[in-house]
Amino acid sequence: MNRVDKTNYYLDIAETVIERGTCLRRNFGAIIVKNDEIVSTGYVGAPRGRKNCSDLGYCTREKLQIPRGERYELCRSVHAEANAIISAARRDMLGGILYLVGKDAKTGELVNNACCCAMCKRMVINAGIDKVIVRNTPTEYTVYDVNEWIENDDSLDGTLGY
Ligand SMILES: [Zn+2]
Ligand SMILES: [Zn+2]
Repeated sequence: MNRVDKTNYYLDIAETVIERGTCLRRNFGAIIVKNDEIVSTGYVGAPRGRKNCSDLGYCTREKLQIPRGERYELCRSVHAEANAIISAARRDMLGGILYLVGKDAKTGELVNNACCCAMCKRMVINAGIDKVIVRNTPTEYTVYDVNEWIENDDSLDGTLGY
């Protein structure tokens, strides 16, 4: 029996969360885990009551072919990380880990070298989350130390755009 390691176990769950996503460009699934318990989940979707990219049949970022990392406000969705964070109390996220998996909406392929956008990084920092672990392949992942963003991430100053 080939038992899955714990990190990939949580990444598998985050990958399943993606299936509820509604963006036509990229979908992400996020789960927040603390003390080995899942605190909350989040996927990409429009604010409650608003139409999703999938309802409209287009994502404006996709339509305008906005390059990766730019003009996030043109997609109507709330990001997966943001949805997971607003579903939890800060005390339950403090010192926790956010697991994140992204897939291209058209091809279904894993997004390579994905990471939180600058707006989500700000929220991750304020949520008190310690680490963000992002899936690269079904078995490989990158671990981001949130402290590293606090100390060294210039994109958080807004000087490099989003
Ligand atoms: Zn979209
Ligand atoms: Zn984001």
